[in-house]
Amino acid sequence: MVRFACKNCNYRFNSEVNHTEKKCPYCGKKDVIKEPSAEELLKEE
Ligand SMILES: [Zn+2]
Repeated sequence: MVRFACKNCNYRFNSEVNHTEKKCPYCGKKDVIKEPSAEELLKEE
């Protein structure tokens, strides 16, 4: 699962597909960014 966040309406959702051109299911805009997972954040040392 990959977490996405919409920059337009701040809606957050999960998706199995890791795709950069994801559309927000809430507002339909393509201003969606991939959120770093907790694991990825922990790697930063
Ligand atoms: Zn949105």
